[in-house]
Amino acid sequence: MRARLSLFVWLLLAASLSLPAQAEGLFALEWKELARGVWVGQRPDPMRYPVVCNTVIVEGRDGILVFDAGGFPAQGEQVFAKVKALTPKPVTHIVISHWHGDHNRGIQPLLDAFPGAKVVSHTFTRDAMLGAPMQSIFKAERDGGALKTAESVKKALADDKAIDGSSISAAERAYWERFIADAELHQAEIMRMTIVAPTITFDRELDIDLGGRTVQLRHFGWGNTKGDVVMTLGAERIVAAGDTVVAPVPYGFGSYPESWASVLKRIKDTRYVTLIPGHGPLLTDTSYVDLLIETLQSVAAQVGALAAEGKSLDAVREAVDFSKVEPRFTHGDPILTRFFSLFFKQPIVQAAYNVAKGIENEKLTEDAGAAK
Ligand SMILES: [Zn+2]
Repeated sequence: MRARLSLFVWLLLAASLSLPAQAEGLFALEWKELARGVWVGQRPDPMRYPVVCNTVIVEGRDGILVFDAGGFPAQGEQVFAKVKALTPKPVTHIVISHWHGDHNRGIQPLLDAFPGAKVVSHTFTRDAMLGAPMQSIFKAERDGGALKTAESVKKALADDKAIDGSSISAAERAYWERFIADAELHQAEIMRMTIVAPTITFDRELDIDLGGRTVQLRHFGWGNTKGDVVMTLGAERIVAAGDTVVAPVPYGFGSYPESWASVLKRIKDTRYVTLIPGHGPLLTDTSYVDLLIETLQSVAAQVGALAAEGKSLDAVREAVDFSKVEPRFTHGDPILTRFFSLFFKQPIVQAAYNVAKGIENEKLTEDAGAAK
């Protein structure tokens, strides 16, 4: 019996060792209870790729609401497991903060388990999920997108040449080697993803009564997208911001810098004590949100003025000055510096330029060129 047991243990160990070691934990959430019946699930390393959104579970007397239940089925499955471990109550609402796939293409496992759950989003989010913006990205991803990106990263490492032609530091090399090791599992998850149509939409506000607890969903205007939804729990002063707040570096794709700064002021007005960003660590004061506001206002003002002078996008890119704000995001860290450029500086300048020129940032029709 003892020999058989140890053989079993050995087999288990062998099975776990045969996993690609670096892909381990790629989608693994850690859970924390923020207040009675309010849980947040986060992958500890926000910079690892693919990015994984933060998930919030809110329990009421009658049921469970989940805010951003996941971008990957592996995430949706963990949310389901967490709910089952917490309570026999059903999930009644799955709220989608915005249309970007890393917040919604993994919710199918949760819907399979709770087919009565309502899927809630802003009206624009539903249109974008079912229209060209989501379709064009999904098609490229299903066409081997993660593996193709890994191949080009492999080549960049072999040539010691980053996307901007610079050489790659040792710290960055370790990051990108893990990126390559994670690509196969990332692609496998892409092939399991689905697009689920929201069943309840709203334009400005929606309150959801879970029994003894009301969840407030608010759209404060165009920000990271045209359909961002912020969730507030008034009594607990907890706010889930979706990707209107992402730390340690923000995402700027297809966004609306000036209006976004106003959205962040509305979030500050809630006088939250805990802010759950769309990605990254919890925030317990306003310093990071203030930095975002300052940055977005500066980008909008600079790009607006340069575009009004008739400068081309390339000339605007050259001229915009991030030196006052960039070190406060990156602190000189090479990975954060790389992603501050890739995920924020480049796309936010493009987005602000489009706004200044009246070019649509998130086109819902087929010829969507500028959408992320
Ligand atoms: Zn996101």
